[in-house]
Formats: sequence, C-alpha cells, structure tokens
Amino acid sequence: MLVSAKEMLNKAKAGKYAVGQFNINNLEWTKAVLLTAQENNSPVILGVSEGAGKYMCGYKTIVGMVNGMIEELNITVPVALHLDHGSYNGALACIEAGFSSIMFDGSHYPIEENIQKTKELIAIAEAKGISVEAEVGAIGGEEDGVVGNGEVADPEECKMIADLGVTMLAAGIGNIHGKYPENWAGLNFEVLAKIQELTGTMPLVLHGGTGIPAEMIQKAISLGVSKINVNTECQLAFAAATREYVEAGKDLKGKGFDPRKLLAPGFEAIKATVKEKMELFGSINKA
Ligand SMILES: [Zn+2]
Repeated sequence: MLVSAKEMLNKAKAGKYAVGQFNINNLEWTKAVLLTAQENNSPVILGVSEGAGKYMCGYKTIVGMVNGMIEELNITVPVALHLDHGSYNGALACIEAGFSSIMFDGSHYPIEENIQKTKELIAIAEAKGISVEAEVGAIGGEEDGVVGNGEVADPEECKMIADLGVTMLAAGIGNIHGKYPENWAGLNFEVLAKIQELTGTMPLVLHGGTGIPAEMIQKAISLGVSKINVNTECQLAFAAATREYVEAGKDLKGKGFDPRKLLAPGFEAIKATVKEKMELFGSINKA
C-alpha cells in the first residue's frame, strides 16, 4: 500500500539520514526502484514529473501500475508515490488519481500567490492524508523545459511557507537540475543552516541530486536535508548500459533483440545507481 511521505521523512530528519526520491519513466524503471528498496530494506519515494505522467499514459495508469507491483512483488517497505514539480491542476489531478504525495511548485509565482495556492492544496491533501512538498526559490537547470538559474532561497520566505503546514520544503541552495557545470559554485551551506534554524523540524528537500559530491550530500543531510531527488543519474546509467549492449552487437546475437534482454542491462544499471544512493543517503535498513 502506498503511504504518505510524512512519517518516513520525519523519521529521517530525526535519524539524520535522507530518503531518496527516484523519478520513474516506465515499468522497468519502477520495478528497478521498488525491488532495490525492498532488497535494502529502505523507504523510498517514486517521483513522477508531469511530463513523465503524460508519457506513462496518465496518473491513473501510474497508480495502477505501482499499486499492482507493490502487491505482486511483495513490496513491504514504505513507498510514497509523489508528483514532482506539480502545477496546481496537476496536483489536484494526482490527488484524485490516488497519489500519496504531491509537490506544488509555486516558486515561479510571487510569494503571496505561492502561499495562497499552497494553502489551498494543503487543505485538500491533508483531508486525504497526502503529504505536500512546497518550493521556495527556483531550482536551477532544466526541469521538463523550465529553465532556472541555481537560485538561493530567502530563509524568511522558507519559514513563511513552512508555517503553512507543508510536510516537506524544497529550497534552492545553489543546486541545479541535470548535469552540473564545470564552474558550479557548490551548495550554499550558510543559507541551508539558516533555513534549518528558522524551520526547525521541517524535513528539507534537496533537488538535483545528480553530481553533487558525496561529502556535500552528507553535510546537507547533517544540516536538515531529509529527502534527496535523483533523476538524471539513473537516466545516464540506463543509457550507458543500453549503449554498451547495442554497441557490443548483443541485440544481433540469438534472441538478443527480445526487449526483456535488450532492456536488462539498463534495468540492472538503475538498480545499482539506486542502491549506491541509498547507501550514501543512509536510508538502508531504515524501513
Ligand atoms: Zn526538482
């Protein structure tokens, strides 16, 4: 059964580790993340962007697929199905479809409008036991076509949004979606510490987990980050393993063209990446 992200993240915050959000793109992706979580006894959050939602034939299809897998694969660790960077209407659609967690990304609105819309969604989600992530200060890089610039959030604005009763809060601290540029300045730990000081026990979310050095990840966790989003890294691992299979000509040998064989190396590469992240985040055996 899907659960809200609330309890797993409060536990993570108290225990000074982080739960990974791994974005999914298809059946193989979802199966890889769920099996790795189960094998490592780790809580897990499945992230779905609106673009990935469309690609996978809509939110109801995803809810059906994930619930089916949890039952058929005997997944007993806590699993949250979470809308990533949702619009207001996207969040409503996911609540309706059976997601257990949503993110409303109102970071592009003026703060007053972000607050108003976040409030409305919290009221609707709370009544159904669904967790809500809000965002302050756009995350840099590209997310489904929306490009930002590695912004740093205003800690006072973070407090205003946290006080609305959100479950977890994403704040820009110089992190970027996608691959990090050579001249990246690194995470702004001063701002992170200030946000943590003002928001207390609120679990903080770090987006753009791909390519942040391990020691920065660990420092961010020590400063209150309890959820880390990983997307690009699984995509790169999947693509590299698939390329290797095809370039070795394995699809041309015997039944190597069978999709169950062709996609297997990519599937295993996602599993290895997810496991590595769970080790780094400290969520293994925390289910
Ligand atoms: Zn993000």
